[in-house]
Amino acid sequence: MKLNLDREIQVAIDAVRHASQVCRSVQQRLATVEALSKKDKSPVTVADFASQAVVCSMLMKAFPDDTVVAEEGTGELRETTRTLLRGVVCDEVRKVFGGATDEEVLTWIEHGATGDGHEPRFWTLDPIDGTKGFLRGEQYAVALALLEKGKVVLGALACPNLKQGDVEGVLLVVQRGQGTRLLSLWDEKKKSKQIKVSRTEDVTTSRFCESVESGHSDQDASSQIAQRLGISSKPLRMDSQAKYAALAAGQAEIYLRLPTRADYCEKIWDHAAGMIAVEEAGGRVTDIDGNPLDFTQGKELRANRGVVATNALVHEVVVNAINL
Ligand code: AMP
Ligand code: MG
Repeated sequence: MKLNLDREIQVAIDAVRHASQVCRSVQQRLATVEALSKKDKSPVTVADFASQAVVCSMLMKAFPDDTVVAEEGTGELRETTRTLLRGVVCDEVRKVFGGATDEEVLTWIEHGATGDGHEPRFWTLDPIDGTKGFLRGEQYAVALALLEKGKVVLGALACPNLKQGDVEGVLLVVQRGQGTRLLSLWDEKKKSKQIKVSRTEDVTTSRFCESVESGHSDQDASSQIAQRLGISSKPLRMDSQAKYAALAAGQAEIYLRLPTRADYCEKIWDHAAGMIAVEEAGGRVTDIDGNPLDFTQGKELRANRGVVATNALVHEVVVNAINL
């Protein structure tokens, strides 16, 4: 039976659009915010909290019974030493929700910590995925997904700096069983279109992407695997779940995320929206052993190691090459 998630989809689209506006506004005046960052952590902190406030406020109003598992912690902003940061965050939120009180903004941010990932239905949010990319003015994402009974059923993945075809600022909207739609993040009137992964079967001509940060994915290992597969082109390095978006739209065939540490567990908000976008575009996503990502383990993908996403056609050969 198909779930009717029309309202959830609409709210998710609105939420990530508004959050992306906040992120863009902060990114555009990074220089000013940077002055603040010396004393008060980084500008990304401002955008992170503000983005989480915006998304959570919309989820809270539309679906008051749903919990949210978001990346940002919450306690910090109420501390008296955080007055300056709190003020900037609330001002950013008021740019999209004029009139919001500081207390309301704090409550919205705290709503992001209501879930533990074991609820029968909950949302997961990365308010800014790829913070390093955000700071460099490169790729980052606002990633929102809905999970029901341990399965990702809906995703809204906003990539404000990603270009695909004539769309600059990409929003991928996905419902399980209904394909992946590409929307313009900034132009609501632009018609959406269904996107598909690449049909390349030849692994040697496949393009692969990975993190810019070598601490997030083992780049030496991926280069060896690429060699093993006969891939000679350089990896496409990108921050955030924009990598999943690139795959979903056929701009790359392989996304490798190879563990750099035995004790690191991937977080659900780093993968839920991106995974469903790739799968519904016809691709495949597993861990490095070829097992499906298991979203029944709470906030972390405790049963998995690393991630391999492909256009499906080259999946087996890639997983085999990793495990040679
Ligand atoms: P990316 O932009 O693909 O490099 O991924 C950014 C995400 O990497 C962040 O949201 C973090 O949650 C996550 N991350 C942090 N440390 C690690 C690690 N050691 N291995 C894999 N991912 C990590
Ligand atoms: Mg992240």
